[in-house]
Amino acid sequence: MFDLIVKGGTLPDGRVADIGIRGDKIAAVEKLEGAEAGQVIDSTGDLVCPPFVDPHFHMDATLSYGQPRVNASGTLLEGIALWGELKAIATIDEMKARALEYCDWAVSMGLLAIRSHVDTCDPDLKGVQALLDVRETVKPYIDLQLVAFPQDGLYRDPNALEQTLRALDMGVDVVGGIPHFERTMDEGSWSITNLCKIAADRGLPVDMHCDETDDPMSRHIETLAYETQRLGLHGRVAASHLTSMHSMDNYYVSKLLPLIAEAGISAIPNPLINIVLQGRHDTFPKRRGLTRVKEMQAQDITVGWGQDCVLDPWYSLGTADMLDVAFMGLHVAQMTHPDEMRRCFDMVTNANARIMGLQGYGLEPGCTASLVVLDAGNPVEALRLRPDRLAVVAKGKLVAAKARNDSRLSLPGRPASVRRRHRAG
Ligand SMILES: [Zn+2]
Repeated sequence: MFDLIVKGGTLPDGRVADIGIRGDKIAAVEKLEGAEAGQVIDSTGDLVCPPFVDPHFHMDATLSYGQPRVNASGTLLEGIALWGELKAIATIDEMKARALEYCDWAVSMGLLAIRSHVDTCDPDLKGVQALLDVRETVKPYIDLQLVAFPQDGLYRDPNALEQTLRALDMGVDVVGGIPHFERTMDEGSWSITNLCKIAADRGLPVDMHCDETDDPMSRHIETLAYETQRLGLHGRVAASHLTSMHSMDNYYVSKLLPLIAEAGISAIPNPLINIVLQGRHDTFPKRRGLTRVKEMQAQDITVGWGQDCVLDPWYSLGTADMLDVAFMGLHVAQMTHPDEMRRCFDMVTNANARIMGLQGYGLEPGCTASLVVLDAGNPVEALRLRPDRLAVVAKGKLVAAKARNDSRLSLPGRPASVRRRHRAG
């Protein structure tokens, strides 16, 4: 007897299996002919995958688009200035309301694990207080990790260090940073050394915004790799964005990538945001600004796609759909071979779960019973269609459902409805 059976779905690896769930765990992944269950979800012909994971987001800023004004230049720097205006007037209740509304969107899209940076450059730490509450509220259905993020610079803001330490004391999970936004390259390097030491002393992971610039001389990733190696933080450090690598000298990159691999640093490009914010100072040719994804993967560096923003000072769109993120990444990084497209799907599921260190992630017996049923036949088709999430199960409970929505046709001699599936997927 199971509490829930998800019947007949196709798993990302192509297996067709029933998934039997007891409590909040997957109890069986096999043919469950005649097994009884409290609830059955028929997913015959549909893709069943583990939940989507977003390793880079800003939940304190989300759904604030237009407050108090929009970003006119479309640049990172105006976005940071605009966020400064907003956080001065934001309240804890208002931040919580926006974050919880975003979490509803995330659940509806099968996005059940999120790592959010939270700004620590606010004397009242309003964002930290708001998101610690939100982390507790959504715990039954979303794994939310928080990164202490000194948005205005660890040295550029005289109170940032003290407030970042206070945020970590309050229970924030990860140490963040923004070395390319410090006043000088030297202060950027010192911020990395200081923040990595804090993480080492406290036994915490590190996730820094690193080299989010078009400047090919922005080489903070080299320092981050060095400090990771020196302090033995292997496997606990992520570098977000790394857009300067797009513009770096090829010889230098040939030295840099093995250092990143040796340090066990994972990389989190954010393709929706990188393609929008980078290259803004170029005329033509205009750089894409996305980091070197395939080249890092060739060195066995874990790379996961992050979303970064939805409707905030930096990005005027967004839907909480990690398939949109992977779809953009696939295009900008030109990952169009079938193996590369499958890898893009893996980069918003398994790779991101590894980056966040999620326990019990996957569709095997013993794993946490969280999964998504998609109106697609396989992962590549899911990327192409970015389809409806027909069912979302979080920790054993059905938390979102949507009726299949085929288009009805009125054409002589043609079928009555169309689903846009492809025989070959
Ligand atoms: Zn970010």
